[in-house]
Amino acid sequence: MAGRLVMGDLRVQEVLGSDGRRAVTIMNADGSVHAAAEGFLRDCAGGTDRTYGYLLVDHLRWLEFEGLVPETVRLQDLRRYMGAVGAEFRGPYGGAWRVGKRPYGQSSLETAAACLKAFYRHQGGRGVNPQLAEEFKGVRLPTKADRRRAFLGHTLRELPTNPLRPAGTVRRHPKMPPDGARRELVKAGGSARDRMVVTWLADGGFRIGELCGLHLADLHLREGAACGECRTAHVHICHRETNPNRSRAKTKHPWRVEAETVRGGAIRRVSPAMIHTYFEYVTVEYPRDTTHGMLLVQLHGPRRGEPWAPAAARGMLRRAGLRSELGRINPHAFRHAFASAVLDASGGNTVVARDAGGWASAATVDEIYGHVDVHDPVFSAALSAVWEQRP
Ligand SMILES: [Zn+2]
Repeated sequence: MAGRLVMGDLRVQEVLGSDGRRAVTIMNADGSVHAAAEGFLRDCAGGTDRTYGYLLVDHLRWLEFEGLVPETVRLQDLRRYMGAVGAEFRGPYGGAWRVGKRPYGQSSLETAAACLKAFYRHQGGRGVNPQLAEEFKGVRLPTKADRRRAFLGHTLRELPTNPLRPAGTVRRHPKMPPDGARRELVKAGGSARDRMVVTWLADGGFRIGELCGLHLADLHLREGAACGECRTAHVHICHRETNPNRSRAKTKHPWRVEAETVRGGAIRRVSPAMIHTYFEYVTVEYPRDTTHGMLLVQLHGPRRGEPWAPAAARGMLRRAGLRSELGRINPHAFRHAFASAVLDASGGNTVVARDAGGWASAATVDEIYGHVDVHDPVFSAALSAVWEQRP
């Protein structure tokens, strides 16, 4: 059958059913309905059939081009298809069967993977190519995220709920800081404290309230801290109701002070740049005569030395952003960027459990840290990768 058709003559067609419902189907070159596609698209939920129709017609055209048919195609062929359709460069399969079309982007690749899985499982349910349908129970089609993961030498330990769903996918959150924001803000002058705040937001993914709520005692910046909870440099984010600057950490992990050492709370790893900016701030600007023990303090005016409030920190970022012509800088944007970068660098798989789904817009720094041992090698590698990209 495939040999009889002229390449590319398969097409998507919208049909108006007798019930007035618009449906999508795939037509053969001779005007007949593509039976397998028709059965599948009929069973797709409303709205999905249209998207799947166009993705499936691409796939069916490719099968023809390759001299393959849905009845006998194998998983390795489908992998090749995903590679061809997502190729950024025209390889041996890149051009001829999709002349003038751009490669699929990440989100189309995801949808195509879901579509193919659904299609071949649907086929399997009708007794067609059951071996392939069986294979879809435990494997994923490769995506760009897989390539990144392979590059990091990461092995898959855990499959997402939907085995076809590319786990490492990271959607750019709309609230990312502008390009170069960290570099420009650090360069913009200001105080060592302000440089520290920008660096800690960018490298640590803190909420501004968490950052302003830190006490010096929460900082365990030397290797092998007495708490014994994290070997490398870290801080403990501890919820306190009574901070004089009224900052409160949102996370309420239990914490305590034992033998003058803070234990528990939410642990965050600390980058070399964070340590560097901390020491610069503490040695140059931190007033010697403070007794409140909080990390961030006011540097000027009659309340010099008093704890710095989150609202003041926001104001500093806003003004620095305007001075540097970056526009309005929202501290939370750094948190999104951090989460996104870590997910990106880790392939999103071990680091973020399936409920976070690898979607940066949904995943927060808390979820990332909440689902991983702070010394997980994949997580550590991802953090290092993120920190090394920094200027
Ligand atoms: Zn500690």
